[in-house]
Amino acid sequence: MRGKPDVPGYKARLDGVGSKMDEKKLGALLVTDIKNIRYLSGFTGSSAYILLSKGKRWFLTDPRYATQAGEEVKGFNIKIYKKKALDTIAGLMAAPSARPIGFESDNISFDAYGKLKKGLPGAKLKPAPGIIADLRKRKDPFEVRRIRDSVGVLDAGFEKAMRLLKPGAIEREAALEIEFVFKEKGAEGLAFDTIIASGPRGALPHGKASSKKIKKGELVVVDMGALKDGYNSDETRTFSIGRPSTEQRKVYGVVKDAQAKAIDAIRPGVKASAVDAAARGHIKKAGYGKFFGHGTGHGVGLEIHEGPAISPLSREVLEEGMVITIEPGIYLPGSFGVRIEDMALVTRDGCEVLTRTSRELVSL
Ligand code: ZN
Ligand code: ZN
Repeated sequence: MRGKPDVPGYKARLDGVGSKMDEKKLGALLVTDIKNIRYLSGFTGSSAYILLSKGKRWFLTDPRYATQAGEEVKGFNIKIYKKKALDTIAGLMAAPSARPIGFESDNISFDAYGKLKKGLPGAKLKPAPGIIADLRKRKDPFEVRRIRDSVGVLDAGFEKAMRLLKPGAIEREAALEIEFVFKEKGAEGLAFDTIIASGPRGALPHGKASSKKIKKGELVVVDMGALKDGYNSDETRTFSIGRPSTEQRKVYGVVKDAQAKAIDAIRPGVKASAVDAAARGHIKKAGYGKFFGHGTGHGVGLEIHEGPAISPLSREVLEEGMVITIEPGIYLPGSFGVRIEDMALVTRDGCEVLTRTSRELVSL
């Protein structure tokens, strides 16, 4: 990558949308998902629309964001709407076109759809879900760099966690200190509420940090994610407080090997369901199949959870440039839980694991 400027690939992204529009025979596309709008334009505000039609790119926002849009958004015709965005959009699309206007049917409210339909009498509106979500699955070099940066925050977060977690520590207080480290490292915030789940709470796959005191002999599941420059990261480690029991060590080993098998299975052309099966099969064989109730992983990018899903029902096929998590777990109700989660970038012939904290069972 050396020598290449670190700039977002907006042109390639917009070209990609253009090809999809041609494929689906759309005359225009109305983009309403704010993350998709950031992806196409670089706009980091919270309220905007993008309208793409043959050779024209409109960016619409309200007066609060006029200055910001002027600074962030290049290559678009910027329109500031006063009251009703949909009236402005309807005005821009008023020219009759034989081709239908696509809209993000997976992201528009029923009410907004009704207004759009009313504002555009005679126009053919066509649901066009997932066009940009699909492009977003493959990260360009600019995005991979942002994701690496976001993962870098977690290195510091886990170092801190390993110093904080000891008998007597309170889950929530530890989570707060980790959040402070995130901010120190330049993150704008958390990708999600930090999970610190000790002892029996570890059997809750989403056990947010509570007021529970951590005790000797417990395992602690720590799942944290940072949001930095708009990009998310996601990593889980399970620590032992004091010496782990034979059963804790055994379960940890099963999860660790299951995860390694899934990571080994990652390469372009492989079905996401096959990567899931690699982890799930190992856990089943060890006799813990019914204690692993969630998918093996998910894509990460502008959203903490995005495509492709790595699960038994996923119909996705891995492609170079995808960034996914691999996070099998075993949850024994009332007893303890173990999850190990890493992020991997799909490369030409396999994958690169981006997260760096040791995967060995660390006793604190
Ligand atoms: Zn996670
Ligand atoms: Zn995750």
